[in-house]
Amino acid sequence: MSPSGSTSRRALLSASAATAAGASLIGGRAAEAAPAAPAARRVTAQPPGRDLVAMAREIDPGRIESIVRRLVAFGTRHTLSAQDDPERGIGAARDWIHAELRRIADASGGRMTVELQSYVQEPDGNRIPVPTTITNVVATLRGSAAPERVYVVSGHYDSRVSDVGNATDDAPGADDDASGVAVVMELARVMSTRTTEATVVFAAVAGEEQGLYGAGHMAQRFKAAGADVQGMFTNDIVGSPVADDGTADPRVVRLFAEGVPTSETPEQADVRRSVGGENDSPSRQLARFVRDVAENRATGMTVNVIYRRDRYLRGGDHIPFLEEGYPAARFTEPHEDYAHQHQDVRVEDGQQFGDLPEFCDMDYIARVARVNLATLWTLAQAPGTPTGVHIDTGDLTNSTTLVWTRGPEPDLAGYEVVWREPTEPEWTHVLDAGDTTTHTVDISKDNVFFGVRAVDRAGHRSPVAYPTPSR
Ligand SMILES: [Zn+2]
Repeated sequence: MSPSGSTSRRALLSASAATAAGASLIGGRAAEAAPAAPAARRVTAQPPGRDLVAMAREIDPGRIESIVRRLVAFGTRHTLSAQDDPERGIGAARDWIHAELRRIADASGGRMTVELQSYVQEPDGNRIPVPTTITNVVATLRGSAAPERVYVVSGHYDSRVSDVGNATDDAPGADDDASGVAVVMELARVMSTRTTEATVVFAAVAGEEQGLYGAGHMAQRFKAAGADVQGMFTNDIVGSPVADDGTADPRVVRLFAEGVPTSETPEQADVRRSVGGENDSPSRQLARFVRDVAENRATGMTVNVIYRRDRYLRGGDHIPFLEEGYPAARFTEPHEDYAHQHQDVRVEDGQQFGDLPEFCDMDYIARVARVNLATLWTLAQAPGTPTGVHIDTGDLTNSTTLVWTRGPEPDLAGYEVVWREPTEPEWTHVLDAGDTTTHTVDISKDNVFFGVRAVDRAGHRSPVAYPTPSR
């Protein structure tokens, strides 16, 4: 065996040579006779299928605009506002979203169901002064092949003004977060007429501005039910690509994804300190997956992954899911205009303040919806993220043996091993391992980061699982 450094370098070079020769790894078996130099190719993005392109075209900026304006027309959607007034307040908004989602579910052939998920939040000594009913409106599109595997997309329908306790003044909340609710409702409409293999949950949650209460309740309910939530995305403030100085990035959405997991245990932290992986949490793999499937002609968008849980010292509805150990991330517009969020509606020195619909760009919201669509559709059609993924460390060697558990999907085709130099942000190399549960690569585990993903017969790829050491 050569010194590990030269082995690694030679293997990576041969990977490039294989790519240059146009080698296809699907069905290839060259790499199984380890420890030969692996026949790898460069990772390329998953192209959108014809079904996805057709669905993306159905996302309608006109419908998105009507949803945003209807939500604004409830005056305020503050969590502490009226729950029984048919015209004004969060109760009227809740009932309207519920009716709309039920109408969408009616066209799903019984696959989509809609529920009101309520609980009473007791006073918290902070932003909830009196016992308050918090209600999430939740539409569930049950998967045909793997219904127990769940992906969640959310927006929050509550709103606020400058004083977070003010439940009476107009709080239009067009960008924050009627835009996110519109994404969720439009996705539900387009996806409800299709069959997905895994289950997709479309949620309009409440209580975000008072302390992430609605999302917290939903995450706890999933956890208590033992649900296998393999990905969650909140869309919060996705209404405009324009900054307060006029800068515009109409083809960019930010995706905040944490590195070290919020739910990490002391034992997991010990492993991470020993073998690395602070850039390889399940949420980071989910973010890489979003770039893999959603930066293409179906969306016309670039996804700027930000290596943070959320904006600086701020929070969102993905955090309760992270606390329960579920991979989760936050979509947000590329710049924020603080004159247009959490503000009393007013004119000051000739400047209009307030979260008004005229500051939203409906075509932009539609493109963000297409990014979500590409992500959720591919997640729901692809195999689940591999489980039981380990690097075998029984012997000291300069090659790397990965093991994993075979997934239950009926259309599973096999597995791919991916890797990258430790300083690379994205997976760079991939090789086909075939329909097996172990694979050895002639590259030292000391020198690159490895991962494993599953592939189905249609070529859909799962998010990558990052291995832990096993002896
Ligand atoms: Zn918000």
